Amino acid sequence: MDALKYTKIIATLGPASASVEAIRGLIVAGADCFRLNFSHGDGPKLQPLIDNARAAARAEQRHITILADVQGPKLRIGRLPSQGVLLHEGEPFAITRASDMGDESRVHSPYEWLAKDLEPGARVLFADGAIELTVERIEGADVRCRVISGGRLYSNKGLNLPGRRLTVETLTETDRRDLAFIADADIDIVASSFVRAPADLDEARALVGKRRVPVMAKLERPEALERLDAILDASDGVMVARGDLGVEMPFEQVPVLQKRILGSAARRGKWAVVATQMLGSMATSPRPTRAEASDVVNAVLDGADAVMLSEETAVGDHPRRAVEAMAALTCAGERHAPGRTDDTLDAELISFSQGAAGAAVAAAERIRARALVTLAGSGKTALALSKQRPELPIVALGSWEPTLNRLNVLRGVVPVAIDNRKELEEQLVAADRHLIEAGWAQAGDTIIVAAAMPLGERKETNTIRFHKVRAQ
Ligand code: PEP
Repeated sequence: MDALKYTKIIATLGPASASVEAIRGLIVAGADCFRLNFSHGDGPKLQPLIDNARAAARAEQRHITILADVQGPKLRIGRLPSQGVLLHEGEPFAITRASDMGDESRVHSPYEWLAKDLEPGARVLFADGAIELTVERIEGADVRCRVISGGRLYSNKGLNLPGRRLTVETLTETDRRDLAFIADADIDIVASSFVRAPADLDEARALVGKRRVPVMAKLERPEALERLDAILDASDGVMVARGDLGVEMPFEQVPVLQKRILGSAARRGKWAVVATQMLGSMATSPRPTRAEASDVVNAVLDGADAVMLSEETAVGDHPRRAVEAMAALTCAGERHAPGRTDDTLDAELISFSQGAAGAAVAAAERIRARALVTLAGSGKTALALSKQRPELPIVALGSWEPTLNRLNVLRGVVPVAIDNRKELEEQLVAADRHLIEAGWAQAGDTIIVAAAMPLGERKETNTIRFHKVRAQ
């Protein structure tokens, strides 16, 4: 029997993984979902990656998920000489509105509300926190700082104002343009960056609304954590975006925040991803560090449904090895994971579908079924089954490619295409064939089918069927 890798792997695409061949290699190594980072290009520039990922999936006869990560209000500095400038501890440094080339004493920032959002004593971080300044005074639109921790600063690096409320809207003009592109593109999920309130997600959802593309919240701002449950309820999933989270919040809080976010997502039945620096050293090294190995396994033990690679696969020297390492580590973590977690779902929040899915998984365990099968309409049943974390494959049968592609990122879910057949009995014939071919069941084994009947009417999950696999 093929061993199933339950935790899904998201690989960011970039120059190191742009070709059809390279993406096929990542699929074979264990990647389930490909992330396009709109911080590094707009829709037309990223379109070849979408085309190549789809071509690779066709060649491998697999469903893959494509996730579009829109940039959000990432603040940046302006231009500096190409060799950068060295900032020395204790020296003054200004952030100005003048958009000319900066030097050792000042740099431009295009963020128009910088002076409004800061006050004397506030901290300013450059380059993901590598350089730290403190604000001494505000002069009109310019901010005069003192360098607390220096280093070499290069053009266009990120700018963070930890702990400050930002005036900028969560969706920028660039994001709106990108979301308009995504609305018509072959994209399965959207990730919205720097989400601060549930309404941010509603806006993103409205902009990609035509195809009901699921929208996930990247959690990287303190305001999002203050409203975590409301944001979870408004989202289709969340990402623990540890890169910016570890700059906006003290880095020592990130491990505990990760556990808190994953725990809340499990209680509310929402899909959750852990991202950033998971195997960071593999951007240049063929093997992960021991600390990275622990980090990936701990994310699985914390309850992550998916784990993400960023520069490791986008610009790294060993993209395929990074995915292979991730797959080996997630499988190792799953062997020790606490297993099924239906009792972590918040009792008063359990929906009809979640209740039915819980009963289906309990029945499957009781009778030692070999698999769970769902008939993928909207994907609601597959998500509810997946969030129970059963130690069984969840075979999602469906005929609509976009749903099958989207479901591939859910923990333990294997999407399988079948002809558009209306009747349950016909669909079970296809399920039996696939389970036998994949080696997950033999004729005479029992499987549990969870479905929303009548099929195709987008009902809640309302039917559990005990079924014996038949040879074809
Ligand atoms: C992060 O901050 O962890 C993240 C995933 O976002 P980005 O890579 O876009 O900075």
